[in-house]
Amino acid sequence: MKAVLDHVGIAVKDLPAALAFYRDALGLNVEAPEEVVSQRVRAHFIPVGESSLELLEATAPDSPIAKYIENRGPGLHHITLRVDDINAALTQLRARGARLIDERPRPGAEGALVAFVHPASAHGVLVELKQLAAHQSPAPSPQSPRLRSHTGTASSGEARQSAEGATAAVPGPMAGDSRVQRFSVGDIELVSLCDGFFRLDGGSMFGIVPKTLWSAKAPADERNRIVLAMRPLVVRGMRTMIIDAGLGDDTSEKFRERYGVDRTRHLDHTLAEAGLSVDDIAIVLATHLHVDHAGGFTVRDAAGRVRPRFPRAQYVVRRGEWDDAAHPNARNRASYVADNYLPLADAGVLQLVDDDQTIMPGVKVRRTGGHTRHHQIVLIESGGKKAAFVADMMPTQAHVEDAWISSFDLYPTDTLSAKEQLAKEAVEKDILVFFEHDPAVAAGYIREQDGERRVVPAPG
Ligand SMILES: [Zn+2]
Ligand SMILES: [Zn+2]
Repeated sequence: MKAVLDHVGIAVKDLPAALAFYRDALGLNVEAPEEVVSQRVRAHFIPVGESSLELLEATAPDSPIAKYIENRGPGLHHITLRVDDINAALTQLRARGARLIDERPRPGAEGALVAFVHPASAHGVLVELKQLAAHQSPAPSPQSPRLRSHTGTASSGEARQSAEGATAAVPGPMAGDSRVQRFSVGDIELVSLCDGFFRLDGGSMFGIVPKTLWSAKAPADERNRIVLAMRPLVVRGMRTMIIDAGLGDDTSEKFRERYGVDRTRHLDHTLAEAGLSVDDIAIVLATHLHVDHAGGFTVRDAAGRVRPRFPRAQYVVRRGEWDDAAHPNARNRASYVADNYLPLADAGVLQLVDDDQTIMPGVKVRRTGGHTRHHQIVLIESGGKKAAFVADMMPTQAHVEDAWISSFDLYPTDTLSAKEQLAKEAVEKDILVFFEHDPAVAAGYIREQDGERRVVPAPG
């Protein structure tokens, strides 16, 4: 493809000092600033030949630029390449396995189309692609209106969110999106929550897939760990249900250090943000009882007693999973913590289910096995629309390809068959798939093209 450098975005902490360098010391001409209210950003353009430098100054502490500087310090924020055909550019990048933040172009300023490429695929640099609107001329002239469409000037709400997502993705392995996102499937509302993030060995998460392949999709930290989110899902239909509940707060300092646990924002925060409290939950449904799914089922009170966290809820667990968790062996012991589930039986709130069955109207479970012998996924259907909460069968969107199976899985060939079945259904029936551990994407649609699968994120 043919690409021209449009501009280079630089995150600036101290504007007067930056102007003292770029304007005074270098003697460059700085244009009048443009304020982008939705992004809490002020942009100062400095033409340099055919391209520009763009000094980005945060106007509020919650600005994406302020967050970027907080995480990485001031400096290079993004580069923008102008292309003739942004769709062709995205197709070419996708075919080469590049990780895209925007699967499809979105509107930028002045009718331009823009799309971001993840820094993991661009060797640490956030790359914005831009295609000018048909009426725009690529050669700027002093009289023409501004032709640029930098990170800050997206105007629609959705575009704003994507731009924030793009900025949030910049700090590398630390980045994660903990926003509450709402989806609807017929009459059922689905609210994706977040219990924070943790880190697991990247090699273990991708099984036989070599690091040269997986690290392009999930960058590893200095200890070879990748970031995973914990995203319980609230299902609001005839009753209010939560599927899984994250890690909870009853972990040791050693555990949190080893697994890089970051629960700065956790389930209580996101529940509240969704307008819910623990009292609103009538059903807690477990996909399986691993600590990163069932840790939030219970809480320890001031007296040190462990009790159900959702006081009005019935807890629905698959009987086989319950039995296996109650009798762990050397291979799976590290994944189970008895305090997460045994107290539920004592409190009389436990319901064991044996078969694939309907838990409430429109919501049923399907045993997949694989990850654990009785691991189950949740299928949701209403008004002709479908969604699937696939838990550890396909923990992140990077696991969408058949062979990308975690070596934590006890029966990987069972994971494989369950995944083949679900992926086929998802493509044919347009199922909205929820990725419980994906650090960036809560849900998306699986698409297949030339034998390759990919996920198109769904805006929440
Ligand atoms: Zn698990
Ligand atoms: Zn898990």
